[in-house]
Amino acid sequence: MNKLSAYLHVPFCRRKCAYCDFYSAPPADGAVSSYAKALAAQIRSSPQKGRALYTVYLGGGTPSLLSPDDFALISSALRETFDLSSCAEFTVECNPESVTPALVDCWLSHGVDRVSMGIQTFSDAALARLGRLHTAARAQEAYQELRRCGMKKVSLDLMAALPDQTISQLESDLDAMIALSPEHVSVYLLKIEPRSALGREGVAEADEDLQREMYLTTHRRLTAAGFEHYEISNFAKSGFRALHNSHYWQGGEYLAFGPNASGFVDGVRFRIPADTAAFCASNGQVTPIVEDVVDGEEAAREKILLGLRCSDGIPVSAVEPEKQSLLQPLCRAGLATLSNGRFALTAEGFLVSDAVISHLMPE
Ligand code: SF4
Repeated sequence: MNKLSAYLHVPFCRRKCAYCDFYSAPPADGAVSSYAKALAAQIRSSPQKGRALYTVYLGGGTPSLLSPDDFALISSALRETFDLSSCAEFTVECNPESVTPALVDCWLSHGVDRVSMGIQTFSDAALARLGRLHTAARAQEAYQELRRCGMKKVSLDLMAALPDQTISQLESDLDAMIALSPEHVSVYLLKIEPRSALGREGVAEADEDLQREMYLTTHRRLTAAGFEHYEISNFAKSGFRALHNSHYWQGGEYLAFGPNASGFVDGVRFRIPADTAAFCASNGQVTPIVEDVVDGEEAAREKILLGLRCSDGIPVSAVEPEKQSLLQPLCRAGLATLSNGRFALTAEGFLVSDAVISHLMPE
């Protein structure tokens, strides 16, 4: 049977970050606990009940807004519904301002073995501009709390190409992050989403040349510090690639719990309706929306689309014979490599991955 993972969504954030257009909102009093009950009920009524889970990812929003009791309710529902005995990774996302030792102890006691924390930058001025609720000092303190409690795998998120950011400011951020010694790092170039606060203010994205330079600076700095650049935005120390996200990129199957969570099972991509009030009112008994049915042709396209995000690339045979003549020129341009029958993009290639992928897609 195929490996099956689970994504659980927590649609709450204390305050909306200025760059964010994800599905999340500040919770009303008592809303987080009511939500935890509905999420646990949705988990318990899963049609995939009894199956083994390969990885679990609790994302958001801000999952660290769940109290230890709320978290325990969700975790117990997972354990009573699925077989977690061979679960290879259980990740919880968090924000520095809501991490507490009691919460981390609770996560650990329920089998969480990986935390992904959004730091974004170590500049207090930039954090304020981004509408983050924490300072750089609080982020560093939260990181140390995670470690003191015994969290073995920590991933940190950083953003680059922030408004008015210089290359040397980005280098300072990268150095501060490297100094913390996380096992995994994700770095995203800031995109200004039209519906975000920055988008509504008319803030412009950094120009393309600066974004390119920042991306390549990040690649050089992190690979020199011993991280493998294994996916467009992701870097890992040896043996610490994110298993859950890698499962997505390998076209693996995953369940979806919570409003706006997406899933992929039996060739069907689906989404839980993005309506937290309706989700809670129905105690998690909502009908998923089918978004796509992945047939043979679509699967071939996804293999290229997802595979070329990763440094492992794709087998050359995944590219149609009549398009394989495009591969060598891409390698000569420094955008890709061909080795042991596999075609993969380099860091320069990741920067233009959309264009490369569209050329290699089956007609
Ligand atoms: S914490 Fe994450 S999900 Fe919440 S508002 Fe900020 S960026 Fe969006």
